[in-house]
Amino acid sequence: MNFYGDYHIHTDWSDGKSTIREIEAAARNFGLKEIAFTEHGIRNPAYSVKKLIKQFDYINEIKAESETSILFGNEADLIGENGEIDISIENQRYLDLLIVGFHQFAFPKSPKDWFRSYLPAIMNPFFSKRDSYRKRNTQTMIKCIEKNSVDILSHPNHRFFFEPLDVAKACVDTGTLIELNIKHLDVIEEILDELLKTDVKMIVSSDSHELSTVGRFEEAEKLIERYGLSSRIVNLGDKKPQFKNHK
Ligand SMILES: [Zn+2]
Ligand SMILES: [Zn+2]
Repeated sequence: MNFYGDYHIHTDWSDGKSTIREIEAAARNFGLKEIAFTEHGIRNPAYSVKKLIKQFDYINEIKAESETSILFGNEADLIGENGEIDISIENQRYLDLLIVGFHQFAFPKSPKDWFRSYLPAIMNPFFSKRDSYRKRNTQTMIKCIEKNSVDILSHPNHRFFFEPLDVAKACVDTGTLIELNIKHLDVIEEILDELLKTDVKMIVSSDSHELSTVGRFEEAEKLIERYGLSSRIVNLGDKKPQFKNHK
């Protein structure tokens, strides 16, 4: 299978190991037509608003001389029970695409959120799968994609558990993509049957932190074949994904 692009890549601007130029060259040699640089959210210790604005300028320079189409995005963090994320509307103006995910390194916006949602998710996965917890997370996730212009939900069902059918329906209504994240295919497979009860679209991403994994989607190909997902995958073959935030 060929893929149009890889839309979830970290570089040495946050906690990735490779430079933007190295990744662009590797992606071009690998045959990708488009890539997106998507560092961690600004509450992550490895990134900041200052870096986001500087990287935006730097990527604009690279874009001008690159054969590969380059997008600039961010993998923002879910930080509050009402679906708040750690990038302001003002700073979202720099982005071509917005990914949102739950991460243990981004502290919640208030102590209440810390105790009710964040702590169980990072400390005790068994507890965090309980019904009451899962129902609250479902509402949090739905509010998040309804109130923010989210393009992609990154690594769903990883640490932060919710009702997949309800969230997938909200994704369909809002045009939000579910990520098939190469590093977390096992957890997406756990909820795949529920997701497939809807028309939700999906995107395959490497979540790469080093050169060797950019665009390497072999493991996802097996899943795509096994579950017949081809028509749902927006970056498969010559399909060029469209993002809400694309300027
Ligand atoms: Zn992530
Ligand atoms: Zn990531």
